[in-house]
Amino acid sequence: MDKPISGMMIYYYIVCKRKLWYFYNQIQMESDNENVKIGKVLDENAYERADKHINIDDVINIDYIKSKGILHEVKKSKKIEEAGIMQVKYYIYYLKERGVEGIKGKIDYPLLKQSIDVELTDEDEKYIESVLLDLTEIVNRQLPPLLENKRICKSCAYFELCYI
Ligand code: SF4
Repeated sequence: MDKPISGMMIYYYIVCKRKLWYFYNQIQMESDNENVKIGKVLDENAYERADKHINIDDVINIDYIKSKGILHEVKKSKKIEEAGIMQVKYYIYYLKERGVEGIKGKIDYPLLKQSIDVELTDEDEKYIESVLLDLTEIVNRQLPPLLENKRICKSCAYFELCYI
């Protein structure tokens, strides 16, 4: 049976489809990577007073909810901002599909002392539906998608797997 599509998978779909395939197929090297460690430290220390890590169906892993109806995702940089935005839009989409309406999102960048608001449009919903179909096809392939030489490869946890 297919696993549920999590917000992190949507994030990886935008970042790199090969990375998505590794992640879905449980080839995980994230804990060794310095960038991921920084992310975890940030996560633990940035917003100590807020309610943190709300997990819904293992699909949504919200960093925290501070005020009613606004879910927050914490990111360390804006390097792949588009992917973070789509991850949060997917959370809002997922909740809406289950009857939870009127939710908005916010992405916080504590290192930059910035945040951006995220809302789900009708167009986003159509896009997410097409992503879910494409993503499901990709993760069920026998082999990962071909390597694309990307700018982010050098800081990716799978670098050694892809390049050596
Ligand atoms: S090293 Fe590059 S190609 Fe390989 S999974 Fe990471 S981002 Fe994708």
